[in-house]
Amino acid sequence: MRTVIYPGSFDPITNGHLDVIQRASRLFDQVVVAVARNGSKQPLFTPAERKTLIEQSISNHDNVTVDVFEGLLVEYVEQQSGHAVIRGLRALSDFEYEFQMALMNRKLNERVETLFMMPRASYSFLSSHLVREIATLGGDVSAFVSPEVREALTKRLGQAGAN
Ligand code: ADP
Repeated sequence: MRTVIYPGSFDPITNGHLDVIQRASRLFDQVVVAVARNGSKQPLFTPAERKTLIEQSISNHDNVTVDVFEGLLVEYVEQQSGHAVIRGLRALSDFEYEFQMALMNRKLNERVETLFMMPRASYSFLSSHLVREIATLGGDVSAFVSPEVREALTKRLGQAGAN
């Protein structure tokens, strides 16, 4: 049983993340999408909300589960009996940070391999940050996220605007 961990903030999950999850789910027996509790200081969605949105967005994959974790990724991977970590690579700009992180994680635990996957080219410009910005400005994000995420964005940003 080969298990891979896909960690990230997923604030919120986008079609780019979903593309990576789908690719990983074809290669591994089990994919654990792991929402990092300690990430950006002021997330739009709580870790529990992000987890629910991921679950709603991936409802058709049997071998994908979603979890929230905190602390060191390498320790979480061991705890889950994971064999590897998946990260998405969009453009050269992702490389430097991802490269540093992969080597640091290897330093912390030699057994944890990091694998990189490229999404479909049309998703390579997509980020949660951009989706949040577009939604905040009232733009249409339906080409970038699932209907559930789009609805949650409208509700959250509508509520924020009403306050
Ligand atoms: P973080 O906040 O840790 O960078 P994100 O939630 O932004 O995490 O993303 C988690 C992982 O998914 C990262 O490896 C990131 O590079 C990757 N990723 C984000 N957006 C895309 C995308 N559009 N296509 C492919 N990979 C992506």
